[in-house]
Amino acid sequence: MMGVGDERASRLPDAGSGLKISFEFFPPKTAAMEEKLWHSIKRLAPLSPSFVSVTYGAGGSTRERTHATVSRILKETPLDPAAHLTCVAATRDEVDGVVRGYGEVGVRHIVALRGDPVGGAGCAYAPHPGGYADSPALISGIRALGDFEVSVAAYPEKHPDSPSKEADIEMLKRKVDAGADRAITQFFFDNDSFEAYLERVRAAGITIPVVPGIVPVHDFNRIARFASNCGAAVPDWLAQRFEGLDKDPSTRQLIAAAVAAEQVLDLVDRGISDFHFYTMNRADLVYAICHLLGMRPVKPAAKKAAA
Ligand code: FAD
Repeated sequence: MMGVGDERASRLPDAGSGLKISFEFFPPKTAAMEEKLWHSIKRLAPLSPSFVSVTYGAGGSTRERTHATVSRILKETPLDPAAHLTCVAATRDEVDGVVRGYGEVGVRHIVALRGDPVGGAGCAYAPHPGGYADSPALISGIRALGDFEVSVAAYPEKHPDSPSKEADIEMLKRKVDAGADRAITQFFFDNDSFEAYLERVRAAGITIPVVPGIVPVHDFNRIARFASNCGAAVPDWLAQRFEGLDKDPSTRQLIAAAVAAEQVLDLVDRGISDFHFYTMNRADLVYAICHLLGMRPVKPAAKKAAA
């Protein structure tokens, strides 16, 4: 007799084969945060992500820390790091200097972003005088500086600055024309809206991979705040699942794992095989979700260089 879930399991590729995963981290501010980040990197590395990315703080505030984290990943692990980079609060020369710095240490993948306005999401965006005007300009600039792989951001539920869904797709097309290799989406919870977005993207003749960004809901209230800033819908069913659990972190963790696993397994059912996880520098939920996807640790490869 088939057990519950056997039918779905039979549709999953064997032991995760055919699935691609990547992880996003943010650069740590303190020694304790650094320890937590490296614990997470070491826990997730054996799952063989195709790359791991490190964010760039708003307004370029983590320029050195992003560089240091990416360089350490490159030096001490077998992982391929991608460095996020924005156009905000920097001249073109300054941004080019950051790109050259990555080239010099061997980083070959950049996540190229316009970034949020200096005043924060919701304020009007104004390019820095002498800086890159927008994300397509940044992508062209990176391409001119070397043989970098370039990933960009995409917004299944529309970026808040975008006047329409069509304008958003048009911007993605400009990014692809400028040389983007892959789009990673803002997080979302409504798989139907992602599928509809993907149809619009393909109808516009955009053929690069569009990788869904998955956020495990460690803290519902925090994620709901992020979502309202970045234009991601928080469905009622999601709020209901976390209702009454504010003071019950262990149950919240179980629900969060179930919610994210349900989302990724549904996307697998819809033919998606590439996932980018917003880890928030925590390994626990992401590891569990990847396990459910059939990913298993492989023997750690030798370090590239002594730590
Ligand atoms: P774009 O895609 O260039 O623009 C966003 C949208 O705004 C467009 O789709 C377009 O519709 C509209 N728009 C932009 N310019 C114009 C214009 N001139 N006229 C009309 N419409 C316009 N932020 C950070 O600070 N650091 C990070 O490390 C970081 N990493 C991210 C990673 C991912 C995968 C994602 C999805 C987002 C990330 N962000 C990060 C957030 C991002 O910086 C913000 O969403 C920012 O507001 C937009 O940057 P973008 O590159 O997506 O912009």
